[in-house]
Amino acid sequence: MSKTKDLGSSKKPDRIRSSTLRPETLGRLDTIDTRAKPGFDGSKSDGAKLLTKRGERLAGLQELLYAGGRSGDTRSVLLVLQGMDTSGKGGIVRHVMGMVDPQGVSHASFGKPTDEELEHDFLWRIKKKLPDPGQIGVFDRSHYEDVLVVRVHDLVPMPVWQKRYEEINAFERELVDAGTTVVKAMLHISPDAQRERLAKRLDRPDKYWKFNPADIDERAYWSGYQEAYQAMLEETDTDVAPWHVVPADRKWYARLAITELVIDALEAMDLGWPDPDFDVEHEKKRLAES
Ligand code: AMP
Ligand code: MG
Repeated sequence: MSKTKDLGSSKKPDRIRSSTLRPETLGRLDTIDTRAKPGFDGSKSDGAKLLTKRGERLAGLQELLYAGGRSGDTRSVLLVLQGMDTSGKGGIVRHVMGMVDPQGVSHASFGKPTDEELEHDFLWRIKKKLPDPGQIGVFDRSHYEDVLVVRVHDLVPMPVWQKRYEEINAFERELVDAGTTVVKAMLHISPDAQRERLAKRLDRPDKYWKFNPADIDERAYWSGYQEAYQAMLEETDTDVAPWHVVPADRKWYARLAITELVIDALEAMDLGWPDPDFDVEHEKKRLAES
């Protein structure tokens, strides 16, 4: 009997579709199992194997995007990563974007705004970090902090953050119209997973640097954050810039899923090698004669 079962499950899916991770498919945050592996029924080692393979695909597509950018194609990709502390945003940047040529990646993380940043509109610091043509930009936190931590802690009056959902939608629409594919992903973890990860930061000298005592205080606001994340998903999940929710208690799954989201985005761009802006045969002849 067990043989039949093994045979039945031996065909592992070879990719996770973006549509699998849409909020409309997964449902409300509080109903999602943060240990789930939507679209993938393999083990951790299956996932690691697949990640290597899909990393090669990602690198190939990224090279096409980069080549296009060097040849006048103005398109780019922006990966927006949001998630609670310890949700694995930094790991995504290292492990996923680490699989592609660093020349083609721009990275920005957004912490507590500086005094100068606070003097400007909340999108001011974001606009300065948008990817150039041909680049994949990765945001570790983003303009969404201005409707998350800001909402949870009343850092501005309600009418001000309330208006930001619409401002964000308009901003992202402009970005997309100008040729940037926006890939938005929320890494969704459980409070227990966060406790474990914070505990690790306190147990290991090589992790102390990641620990911030304020992270423990923030845990008291967990439900407020979940509410703010849910509102974010409802208010800013648009056709041009849709959200994805990635269950992230299993880091290997989250990394694989994000890789697939970026691959999907790049494939939809229908990229190709740019035509030469010189006469190939003529240049071959000149080279031979040189
Ligand atoms: P980390 O990502 O661990 O370096 O932490 C960055 C911190 O900056 C987090 O606690 C964020 O909530 C906070 N942060 C990011 N953007 C904002 C913002 N617009 N207003 C207030 N705090 C922010
Ligand atoms: Mg932190």
